[in-house]
This record gives sequence, C-alpha cells and structure tokens, in this order.
Amino acid sequence: MYNPKSTKAEEFISNDEILTTIEYAQNNKSNISLIKDILLKAKNKKGLTHKEAAVLMLCDYEEIEKEIFELAKEIKEEYYGNRIVLFAPLYLSNYCINGCIYCPYHSQNKHIPRKKMTQEEIRNEVIALQDMGHKRLAVESGEDPVNNPIEYILESIETIYSIKHKNGAIRRVNVNIAATTIENYKKLHEAKIGTYILFQETYNKESYEILHPTGPKHNYEYHTESMDRAMQAGIDDVGLGVLFGLENYIYEFIALIMHAEHLENVYGVGPHTISLPRIRPADDINPDSFTHALSDDLFKKLTALIRITVPYTGLIISTRESKECRKELLELGVSQISGGSKTSVGGYYKNEEEDKDSSQFQVNDNRTLDEVVNWLTSLNYLPSFCTACYGSGRTGERFMDICKKQQIHNFCHPNAIMTLKEYLIDYASSNTRKNAEKLIKKEIEKIQDENQKQIVIENLKKIENGIRDLKF
Ligand code: SF4
Ligand code: SF4
Repeated sequence: MYNPKSTKAEEFISNDEILTTIEYAQNNKSNISLIKDILLKAKNKKGLTHKEAAVLMLCDYEEIEKEIFELAKEIKEEYYGNRIVLFAPLYLSNYCINGCIYCPYHSQNKHIPRKKMTQEEIRNEVIALQDMGHKRLAVESGEDPVNNPIEYILESIETIYSIKHKNGAIRRVNVNIAATTIENYKKLHEAKIGTYILFQETYNKESYEILHPTGPKHNYEYHTESMDRAMQAGIDDVGLGVLFGLENYIYEFIALIMHAEHLENVYGVGPHTISLPRIRPADDINPDSFTHALSDDLFKKLTALIRITVPYTGLIISTRESKECRKELLELGVSQISGGSKTSVGGYYKNEEEDKDSSQFQVNDNRTLDEVVNWLTSLNYLPSFCTACYGSGRTGERFMDICKKQQIHNFCHPNAIMTLKEYLIDYASSNTRKNAEKLIKKEIEKIQDENQKQIVIENLKKIENGIRDLKF
C-alpha cells in the first residue's frame, strides 16, 4: 500500500505505485492538454509530483522537450544563478564486505589492491587537497565493520577538520558511507558532518537483491530506510542518488522523486542534494553487461526534469561524466561538480598512475581543479568554494525555507565571490587568476543591495590582506 508518510520502504517506495505511475505516464504521454497543464504548473517553479514528472519524462514531443530544457535553465538561473559549487571525493578505504556486482570494491574481487589509509596518510591526502584549493570533501569508504568501523570514520573526520595547512582548511565534510544505525548516525551528526549521502543504486527491490547478492547491503529495506534513520538521528541534510544504468531509468526516476516526496512529507525537508551518477568502466566491471545504459540525450532530459521537479535540491555531477557532457548538464540544472578528482584510496598524495588500480571507477574528466575553475569561468559560471551555511546553522528545514523563498541567492552569490577570491590568491595559476578576476568584477556589479556590495568590496580587500573565511 503506497503511503509517502510511512517510514517503511515498501510503503513509501511502493512497487505498485511506481508501476501504476509508469502505466499512467504511458497512457498520457501524448495527452497534449494534460502535458500543457503540467508544464504550466512547472512554470510556477514550485516543483511537480512524481506522476506529473513521469508524464513529461515519457512524452516525446520535440517542442515539449525544448520547453522542458528552457524551463530547467530558467529555474537553475533563478535558484542558483551562475554559481557552481566545487568539491572532491576522498576515499578512505576500499575494504568492503558487500557483493555489489557493479563495483570493483566488491568482496569477491581478489585482484584489486585493498587499502585503508592511516591517519597520517589522511593528513597527507588532505594537505594535497587543500593545496589544490578544495574546501569541501565527500568522504567515501567501503563497508567493513572490522577494517572501517564507525570509530575509524569518526577519527578520520576529526583528522580532516583539524588540518590547517597554509591558508587551507576543509570546512565541510560530507559523508558517503554504508547504511548504518541511528546510534551511528548520531555520532556522525556530533562529528559535524555536512550532508549524509547514500546512493540507493536501484529502487527496484528485485534487481536490488540480485545486484547485491551478499553482505549487509543485500537488505533492501535497511538500505532504503537509511535516510529516515539519519534524519531521526538529527542529520537534516541528506543526499539521494541512483546509479543510472542498473535498472530501467523511468522506474528509477519515479522512485527517486517518491523518495524526495517521502522525506518532505515526514520530516518537512526534502533531500539537500541528488547525485546523478551513470555506470562507468572499472576493474572487473564492464558497463556493457548492464542492459539499461542511459543515452546522453535521455540523461539530459532526466537531469532537466529533476531540476524542474525538485527546484530547491542541489544536483551533483561527478567526473564520471566527460567535459562535454558536464557542460550541457550544467546548463540544465546541475549546481555542484567535483573537480580534480581521484577515485582511488590515497590518489591525491601519490601519483595517479601508481594508484589507478585501486580506483572505484574510471574518471571521464581528468582535468585539474585549476583547469576546471578556468573552464567554468570561460563559460561565465561563477566557481564557488562556499561552505557558509554549514558554519552558520543554515541546514535542514531552515535552509530549505530560505531556499524555497528563493533568498538563498543573497548568501550564495557574495560567498561565491569571496571564496573564489581566496582560491585565486592562494592556489590559482596566473591565467585562471586573470580570467576569474574579470568575472569577479562583473559579479560584484550584479549585487543589488548597495550595503552588501560595499561589504563584499571591503571583504575582498581583507582577503587580499590575508584574512580568510569571511562569509554571509
Ligand atoms: Fe562496497 Fe560500496 Fe562498492 Fe558496494 S558500492 S562494493 S558497498 S564500496
Ligand atoms: Fe551552499 Fe549555503 Fe554557500 Fe549557498 S551560502 S553555496 S547554499 S553553503
């Protein structure tokens, strides 16, 4: 029985409701008057239901698709302006007792080197990340209660926050670790993590159980209800995601939106972010063996529709995608990207060649962070290293409230300018600095509140004089 207010996986991600929604969307994908009504509602920029979004996803009128793309761009512009937040993943350990058949870290893979960083190695890794200019990390680890117990994750987070190297600092540690207990989520909350991220991989229970044949992750309910436990433990920023390519995309799309609706219904706050990974080649993994590969065109439409359906949720694209694809997805609503990423354990401090063999997936965009910043600037995007909300208590409901009123811009925009300035002084190449300084000048002119504009101008001078971490 479908019930978005229930905390039982089978009720808030009801298989029947998904199948009924697919049927409804199939039956209405040519119903032009309904499609136009849904688009009209979407233009209010307050989101859509999973049923409405599914109809738009399946409809294949060219002119409607064009409207969807234009609206996604408009919403992106209104909620996020031209800012793109940058982050990097940090792999702590690839020991894992699960059997996920799409991931090279699965326990049956005997030829991948297993690594777990010591606290000293984490220090080196974080210093390397700080020297690139990163301020925001997503910590990743396999599930292994012996090698990677919660104490190890907590100690690692403490280490990461404690390192102050030159002007560097990691100001927000998001955490992507396996589903765990309320007690452990409370510990993560106390360790001051930013967002708790967990990809569902697939919402289809039958496929899920086949794709996760062994290990604790096999338990679909426990995995699917993890965000509820995290929220009950006090973590109010959670990040959803699906690994596109494992299952039929329309099934995943509808279920992902239903998951967001469930969180909103029960906790009054939807997901802070949604990640959009597609399956990539890796050691022991051939993406061609998965039959649901998503074409670039469908992936773009899906991204645009998620932007329209949950306008207030950050959308994340990693270096799984190529430079070209990332460029198109940025226009359609993506608000956060990783840059200069290494997907192996210890990959930042050591050289990449040495470490490639322990990668979780092959990176498709190999550019350095400086190249990514320069590229964003050349496309007129404002690269942002901002982490201000976390330090200012703007999380969960409070954050969503500001975001839904479209006021978050008043914080994000000046913070993006100031954190970019920090980056330019501390880490950028001369070419990037030259281009981005021009952009900063233009961005200052966009600030409408004269008082705020003056504060930003003064703060930029303070940053030039060595002061760091100024924020709104
Ligand atoms: Fe382990 Fe995560 Fe890879 Fe599964 S996806 S094998 S849980 S690291
Ligand atoms: Fe993110 Fe808050 Fe900074 Fe905006 S002000 S970029 S929402 S941390």
